[in-house]
This record gives sequence, C-alpha cells and structure tokens, in this order.
Amino acid sequence: MEKFLKLLLSLCLFLPALTVPSAAGAASAKEMSVHFINVGQGDAIYIKAPYGEDILIDGGRDGDQVVSYLKKQKVKDIEIMISTHPDADHMGGLDEVLKAYRVKSVYAPKVSHTTKVYRDFLYAVKKEGLKIKTASKGVKLAVKGTTAAFVGPVKSYKTDLNNWSAVLKLTYGKKSFLFAGDAETKAESDMIRAKENLKADVLKVGHHGAKTSTSEAFLKAVKPAYAVISAGKGNQYGHPSAEVLNRLKKFKVSLFRTDQQGTIVAKTDGKNIRFNVKPAGTASGSNPAYKLTASLDNTQPKQNSTIRLTVKGLPNGTDFRAVFHYKTTTTAYSGKIGTPLAVKIGPAKKGYKVIVDVSAVYKGKTYKTQTFFTPR
Ligand SMILES: [Zn+2]
Repeated sequence: MEKFLKLLLSLCLFLPALTVPSAAGAASAKEMSVHFINVGQGDAIYIKAPYGEDILIDGGRDGDQVVSYLKKQKVKDIEIMISTHPDADHMGGLDEVLKAYRVKSVYAPKVSHTTKVYRDFLYAVKKEGLKIKTASKGVKLAVKGTTAAFVGPVKSYKTDLNNWSAVLKLTYGKKSFLFAGDAETKAESDMIRAKENLKADVLKVGHHGAKTSTSEAFLKAVKPAYAVISAGKGNQYGHPSAEVLNRLKKFKVSLFRTDQQGTIVAKTDGKNIRFNVKPAGTASGSNPAYKLTASLDNTQPKQNSTIRLTVKGLPNGTDFRAVFHYKTTTTAYSGKIGTPLAVKIGPAKKGYKVIVDVSAVYKGKTYKTQTFFTPR
C-alpha cells in the first residue's frame, strides 16, 4: 500500500512536468512556411507564421501577381507588411496588396523617395488608417512562437536606397531566416560591425544576386546552408552575378533561384527545413563531385592476353570510351561504367607503354582520365 501511495505521489509530481514537454511538442509540430514568390525581377516574400500570422516582405513590381498568390494561399488578412526599401521592384505592388487586404501594421525604413510608386504606397498606407512603423536594427516584431527582429538598417544611408534595406531575421525553434532585401556590402559590413547575430539557415540573398552584395565577410557571418535568389528570368541587369554564385559555391550553400525554379517554398517545424524543389544546379552540394578513374587488372600483361579495364566515378551504366594507343595502331573500345571491359591486347610490343585514354559524357559534361599498361 505504501508502495502504491509512493507511486501515486511520484506520478502526481511528474504530471505537471509531463505536460510541459507535450505542449512544447505540439507547438514545435506547427509549421512555418516561407514563400519566395516568383514575381520576375523583384522581391515578394510571404510568410505563414507557426501560429497563423501572415507576413509579407515586399510586393514585387506589380501587385496583381502577389495578390493572386496570397488569395491562392487563402490569406484573409496581413498582420505584418514590411517594405524593405522604396525601389519599384519591391514596393511597386504593395499599394495593390493594401487595397486588397486588411493590413494591421506596416514597417519600412525611414527613407523617402520621389517616385509615384512611393507616393502610391504612402497613400495606400494612409487610406488603411495606418502609420508606418520604422524598421531599423533592434526593432522587434510580435510573431507568436518566433523571434523576429530587424538587424538592419543599422544607420542612415542618404539616397543610397539599397543599403537602407530593412533586413529581418526570423527564428523559429532552431531554424533561422535572414531576409536581406537589397542590402549591399556597405550595409552588410555595418551589420557585422554592429555585432548583430546574423547566423541563419536560409539567406534571402541581397539585391537579386548582384555582385555588390553577399560579400564573403557577410557569408561568414550568416553561414547559410541554403540561399534563395529572387530574380527575373533573363533580366537586363544580369542578376544573379557569377561572382555571387561563385561565393555561394565556395561556402557550399545550396542555392534556390526563382528565375529558374519559380516560387520557392521553405517549410520548417523549427527542427528541419524542407523545400518544394531541389536546389538549382549552380550550387555545390546539389551535384556530387564526379571524378572519373580507370584501372587495369594487369599492368604488365603477356602478349595476346586479355586484360580488364574498370572505369568508375560516374553512375554505373554510363557509357565510356577507351582509346588504346599501341605503338603502331590506335584502337577504341566502348564500355559501361562499373562493368569491367575485357580487351584482348594482341601482339602488343614488349616494353612499350600503352596509354589508355578514357572519356565519358554525363549530363552534357565530359569527364576524362588515363591509365596505361606495358606488355612483357
Ligand atoms: Zn531590388
């Protein structure tokens, strides 16, 4: 009986403790989704927060695309709208979104512009009965279950609109996203100098992959596993630049591109992140490094004997070509990767080194290697 009471007591003591992890478990099962909407050359990012708030960062150049995307996602209202900076490819569509949706708060950096796009935006915000809240380093956003705060702009940049970009860091559980707007190297180094914690799993690459953004120092600070470039197919600016693609490659970042893959959607439960598509081919890590190798089972065969050539390094079954350079003649053979190829060498000259050139084409790329044997 006493034992039973003790057991009961310990159960009672454990119960409150037990309810905590189960509640946390339920919370972490909630998903946050981040949609990098394909708006051509520009940015528009829609976030469905884990507890349902709707966040929109920029609205592309033309609001119709964004509004119809949000309608498809069954968005009813927008809790937080962020205008990263007044450039038309980011702000252009926001007035349409403000007309179509009830928006609860609007954040933008404290920089104005003289364009119609900017005036339309201001007018639409005013019509919504809102006042723009300043987006700048340290300003926090109330998004349930997450930590959301601006890490930039750190300071003023006069008429340099890109560097004025509101940069948001959003963390859910163990996973973070950094939305860099069009911030360029200057703003990047200011954020680093301000000792902001920029580390994020997913980086929305600054300024559509232009070479003036995404410095090595910034990549070192962010250490992203994934990067998303929002750019228009065949855009006139040549975005993204080869420089940025190479830098991302160097840092082994898996890359997604709206210009090649359309809308990119990342979903996370706070522990893992999954994307709606596989990374684009330009990033390393998405393609295993192939290296062709060739070996012979006998490098000093007797004349007229049969030797076996094994080629590896590409998926089994891929065709390869082997060219044997004998002293007086050249013979070509074809085989399959992973299957030893038997070759009868004939009366090859003793002591003459026969070079074997091996090549294979895989996914449009040619791979080459070499081996040799010397008949005895
Ligand atoms: Zn832009």
